Amino acid sequence: MKRYMGNVVVVSFVILTVMVWFLFPPEYDGRPNFERQYAGEIIGSVNIVLLSFALFLSTRPKWVEPYFGGLDKMYITHRQIATTAFLLIFIHVLTVPISVTGWKLGNYLAVIAFTGIVSIVLVSLAPRITFLNKLTGGTYEGWKRLKRFIGIFFILAFIHSLTIGNPLHAFIAINWVQLFFIFGTVSYLYTEIFGRFFKKYLPYTVEAVRHPNASTTEVTLRAQKTRIKKQRAGQFLFVRFPRDKGLNESHPFTISSAPQEDVLRVTIKASGDFTRYLFQHLQAGMEAVVEGAYGMFDYKTGGQKQIWIAGGIGLTPFLSFVRDMDGTLTQDIDFYYTVRHAEEALFVDELQAAAEKDPHLKLHIRYSAADGSLRVEEIVRNINDELKQYHIYLCGPLPMIQAFERDFLGRGLLKENIHYEEFNFR
Ligand SMILES: Cc1cc2nc3c(=O)[nH]c(=O)nc-3n(C[C@H](O)[C@H](O)[C@H](O)COP(=O)(O)OP(=O)(O)OC[C@H]3O[C@@H](n4cnc5c(N)ncnc54)[C@H](O)[C@@H]3O)c2cc1C
Repeated sequence: MKRYMGNVVVVSFVILTVMVWFLFPPEYDGRPNFERQYAGEIIGSVNIVLLSFALFLSTRPKWVEPYFGGLDKMYITHRQIATTAFLLIFIHVLTVPISVTGWKLGNYLAVIAFTGIVSIVLVSLAPRITFLNKLTGGTYEGWKRLKRFIGIFFILAFIHSLTIGNPLHAFIAINWVQLFFIFGTVSYLYTEIFGRFFKKYLPYTVEAVRHPNASTTEVTLRAQKTRIKKQRAGQFLFVRFPRDKGLNESHPFTISSAPQEDVLRVTIKASGDFTRYLFQHLQAGMEAVVEGAYGMFDYKTGGQKQIWIAGGIGLTPFLSFVRDMDGTLTQDIDFYYTVRHAEEALFVDELQAAAEKDPHLKLHIRYSAADGSLRVEEIVRNINDELKQYHIYLCGPLPMIQAFERDFLGRGLLKENIHYEEFNFR
């Protein structure tokens, strides 16, 4: 239940905001369209509350992770908040009475904030729209750069609410919303300006670079002084390599080494601009900046019987689990590792050796080009027990995770028994 608390808190504050407006309504001052103005203000306030939470989640607060089920789930909430706020902005604009004359500063700010927030959210929701693509250059980094401006538009939206001509007289409700404005603004300033003085960006050195196959890089990182803290098997970090312009972007990668190792290892598939450039240019001796560790993908919190499914590079958290075991495994695990061709399979010898050493771990490697895609029926056939007793751990491409989740749920497995890591923050 704990992992749902974050979402419950966000929804509760939205409900509370609406209640505050009803419990402490504005004085009726005889103006025409009073009700429309009142309804519009409630919608605008809900929007400020939602956006303030979105800005808070962008600070990546580690202490909040257990209440959402991990940073990747926090980004899912962030995305849902952005989508809701996007719709509410339109409803707000359509609800409040707008006159074409007598505009004050607040009206002009409203137009700027509306255009800014709508454009940025639209780029996130529909990145393939050509004219929006020009704003980001079609890259994730371009999108991240553009997204940075959302806090400025948030601040403008709030100043708009204070400087709009003839506001409603609702002292308590307006002050309530101001608290969220402060919350959102402080979060934004933390992310963009002063967070760097509190957050741990730790210097590491690239100790070794290996290519286990034609599209993968294994990077070994050694702390220059202090190591990142509280690392559990299966967690991930953000890393960038500041000395090379092409590598100076912070990207998330799972720590594929075991927590007790005195180095960190990450295993990176060349799948886009950054990771391809890294495959070609990363060298031992380079400096790295590491932030983390994040994530709640942890088989130790699951039940006695488990099914692990790794698709392609989604192997990395499981690799960390296997490297962490060292004869200590108490759960019974069926581990399915699926790749298209044998050449793509990573660390097979190591996985096989671990399975031979530990009878609790059963390894099933699947080459889908030759043997067809792995299916839930097959997994269920391989277990003699009731599926309901099992906990499922999934990591891989999003369509794969969604398909397995749907099929397992369709066979009556509880949602709480399905754990997954999304390799995607957008
Ligand atoms: C929690 C987590 C753990 C991951 N672990 C691994 C791992 O162990 N090995 C591995 O190979 N990959 C891992 N990834 C995926 C990896 O982060 C992306 O493949 C990589 O960032 C792609 O960058 P690119 O520029 O090469 O590709 P692009 O084609 O530019 O990006 C492809 C997609 O990757 C995501 N992405 C790109 N840049 C970033 C960024 N700076 N921050 C966040 N997401 C980004 C976006 O969804 C984007 O649409 C992980 C991702 C997450 C979220």
